[in-house]
Amino acid sequence: MAQHYDLIVIGGGSGGLSAAERAARYGVRCALIEAGRLGGTCVNVGCVPKKVMWYAANLAHALDDAPGYGFRLDYFGFDWHKLKIARDHFVRDINEWYLGYLAEAGVTLIRGFARFTDAHTLEVGSEHYSADHIIIATGGRPQIPELPGAEFGITSDGFFALEACPPRVAIAGSGYIAVELAGMLHALGAEVTLLVRGDQVLRPFDAMLREQLMERLREDGITVLTRTQIRAVARLANGTLGLHCDGQNSILYAETLLWAIGRDPNTEALNLATTGVATTSSGSIPTDPYQNTNISGIYAIGDVTEHFHLTPVAIAAGRRLADRLFGQQPERRLPYENIASVVFSHPPIGTVGLTEDEARRQHGDAVRIYQTRFRPMYHAFTVRQPQTVMKLICVGAEEKIVGCHLIGAGADEILQGFAVAVRMGATKRDFDDTVAIHPTSAEELVTMR
Ligand code: FAD
Ligand code: NDP
Repeated sequence: MAQHYDLIVIGGGSGGLSAAERAARYGVRCALIEAGRLGGTCVNVGCVPKKVMWYAANLAHALDDAPGYGFRLDYFGFDWHKLKIARDHFVRDINEWYLGYLAEAGVTLIRGFARFTDAHTLEVGSEHYSADHIIIATGGRPQIPELPGAEFGITSDGFFALEACPPRVAIAGSGYIAVELAGMLHALGAEVTLLVRGDQVLRPFDAMLREQLMERLREDGITVLTRTQIRAVARLANGTLGLHCDGQNSILYAETLLWAIGRDPNTEALNLATTGVATTSSGSIPTDPYQNTNISGIYAIGDVTEHFHLTPVAIAAGRRLADRLFGQQPERRLPYENIASVVFSHPPIGTVGLTEDEARRQHGDAVRIYQTRFRPMYHAFTVRQPQTVMKLICVGAEEKIVGCHLIGAGADEILQGFAVAVRMGATKRDFDDTVAIHPTSAEELVTMR
């Protein structure tokens, strides 16, 4: 006999935890099933440990910059292993914190791997659980291509398991993970080659961001090979990997190869066929704007869907779904427009709204662009001279701001407030009428001509 709940959530990552906690606060009987560590991708092998490494990389840059400010330093190197131990500890504390979070909310935690036996019932080991509502929040996993020797490479999961900084790293890919890990590994001492199959990194982003980042990666000393794809990987007797490519360099050597070519949704082991829930050709679950799948009573949120694959998106979708189902807010949902995002590259990128290309496609000649490029004052005294570039995309006579794109130091923290303004429909005049904060880089956004 199955134990029955009002709601079962599959997956204890960003989306699942948020949906379960919010639902339980409305008094529903709720269980969450998690096969691995609480916190999911973000906490264990994503945003959190990644941001720790990004901070470390920033410190490495700051050490390079310090002599320009008069500091005389004796530098004894970087202890990757020591940082990894501290980072793992930090992550374990978050895993444990989530146990309290669920218990305090009154959510029953079921440990194990869930698969459907029908549209209302799940099997975990030898136990069965049924529910009126089931939320699928099973996230995704890194892709590994099908080519000879691909298994010699690691993915972002393997990056977080590294005990030391690899001397030479080849990174295949051109998205968020490829450019973020390239910047960190380079700053922390690795020789990095980025293998990009097209002409550019971050293809869906505004052209200004793509071009600036590419320039910066190369100026920093990262080798970026465009139109280069790996066709086979071989491990040599000394452990080095030989990468056979079809681009500019026919063979490359590295101690570590990292695949950063996208992620696949975790759906194929769920036995969805028994429920009738549809999936796309890539395995993700399509939903309507309210996170409903095609089967009544089954919902999907976060990386297992086709929407933005970002932690705050999964959290917002989960909470709003719980509000709608159990909080008497029938219209509550997450609109997927104007979602802000930061790429933790070096320097970071902040972006919200339409790219210039998208704006011109939608609004034609009604688009007006404002752009500024400058060297931040901090870099007046440093050997490194990265520029900051900011771009506003405005539409119509009132110059409504429909896109805001930044690359440069501080872009990660600057963007959040401007994302609020864009969401509220701010115009260029609103920006101009806002008194600047001086001296900052952010002030350039309200003084652009
Ligand atoms: P997940 O967090 O992946 O959680 C899914 C959970 O479901 C997992 O714990 C898994 O074990 C469990 N599960 C799967 N199948 C089953 C099953 N059948 N039964 C039981 N449990 C199951 N986003 C940002 O916003 N900012 C960042 O800086 C950022 N950095 C990132 C860096 C990296 C390297 C990566 C890989 C991702 C990053 N992301 C970032 C994306 C972010 O981590 C994801 O968007 C987010 O974790 C998605 O949450 P989710 O709940 O949909 O899935
Ligand atoms: P992305 O989707 O960002 O990028 C993957 C890129 O890899 C594609 O754009 C594609 O580029 C390239 N690619 C695909 N297949 C191949 C191939 N066979 N060979 C070479 N290149 C290939 O995926 P990521 O894995 O970088 O990240 C997954 C998601 O996680 C992101 O989309 C993001 O949502 C999230 N994330 C968010 C972060 C943040 O918020 N800061 C940080 C990290 C991840 P092209 O098509 O141009 O060739």
